[in-house]
Amino acid sequence: MYPVRVLSGMRPTGAMHIGHLHGALINWVRLQTEYPCFFFVADYHALTTAYEDPDIIGKSVWEMLVDWLAAGLDPNQSTIFIQSRVPEHAELSLLLGMSTPLGWLERVPTYKEQLERLSQKDLLTYGFLGYPVMQAADILVYRASMVPVGEDQVPHIEMTREIARRFNHLFGREPGFEQRAREAMRRLGSKRAKLYEELRTRYQEQGDDTALEQGRALLSSAQSLSLGDRERLFGFLEGSRKLILVEPHARLTKSPRLPGLDGQKMSKSYNNAIAMREDPAEVTRKIRTMQTDPARVRRNDPGNPELCPVWQLHQVYTDEATHAWVQHGCRTAAIGCLDCKQPVIDALLREQGPIRERAQQYLDDPTLLRNIVADGCDKARKAAQETMRDVREAMGLQYT
Ligand code: SF4
Repeated sequence: MYPVRVLSGMRPTGAMHIGHLHGALINWVRLQTEYPCFFFVADYHALTTAYEDPDIIGKSVWEMLVDWLAAGLDPNQSTIFIQSRVPEHAELSLLLGMSTPLGWLERVPTYKEQLERLSQKDLLTYGFLGYPVMQAADILVYRASMVPVGEDQVPHIEMTREIARRFNHLFGREPGFEQRAREAMRRLGSKRAKLYEELRTRYQEQGDDTALEQGRALLSSAQSLSLGDRERLFGFLEGSRKLILVEPHARLTKSPRLPGLDGQKMSKSYNNAIAMREDPAEVTRKIRTMQTDPARVRRNDPGNPELCPVWQLHQVYTDEATHAWVQHGCRTAAIGCLDCKQPVIDALLREQGPIRERAQQYLDDPTLLRNIVADGCDKARKAAQETMRDVREAMGLQYT
């Protein structure tokens, strides 16, 4: 089996806000210590909806990358890159498009929804309809097995799995597969090869799942096999052909959804966001004027934290003792809203100090950032090229 690899990306939206930080980046920073991670700026994706406004993309890409590094993404642990600088994304997207049924794309639940939501734009384009294929290519080109997503993205991962499955089914043969699998078996050593053959027969003739599991374990522990031979033997064991594209799994991440200053979802376009590197005086001003429970008109009107977006920020930013203080103080009008907001302001400023500091080195020396990203693009490209060699060969494009 191919090694575990995590992949995730974001469209370039410019400077990130604290909703992005708590919704995704903190999780990415954690993941990079556990798995090999690939994080990319999805600039092609930005063009699917903003093709008429290309000038904003470049600026947004670099601003966003500064924030990723400022949040703690470490280029020594993660591969950080830009989608369009790895042309294999576009190539695989085109090739997957050959075998992806049109009906699958038209049925994507978010397709019609987005068309309606962004009705002021002309999105009846080939690129917009084909966006899930490009998303599948982004994942499959790295043979990424794990994709951290929120619940709403699960159908996209499911679609990627279907696209990979269909591709493997259609193209996953290689000339002389059985003979090459038998040669690979010999490289297992005679004792293991005999056991492998027994397990394979038990699984294929009697459907014995335990035998399948044992066979997989045997192959995983066989040091003598190359990656290609291992894949061949996995395929031979299961009765399938060579696995070329790896079906990814969604890694569901429960992350807090931060409210904006008006209580709606935080978003730059709603003008209700607090940037990750907001000026401290602005942070203070924004929180102090943030919407609260409308019932608290005067200082001695009691309120209900459940109806107040500031309370949602408390849940992310302050401790249990403060929560109890807010609950009691709000409901009895023992505290005013400005008192209540102060611990949130303090915690936000504490969080943002080191972020601003880390960002400064990249703002002072933009070459540093460019070099990190260039290295990341090179690394990503090497991994993508390995997959593309197999894909091209499987699709009959490696002819001389
Ligand atoms: S006291 Fe706190 S929780 Fe209650 S309404 Fe004011 S800001 Fe919101």
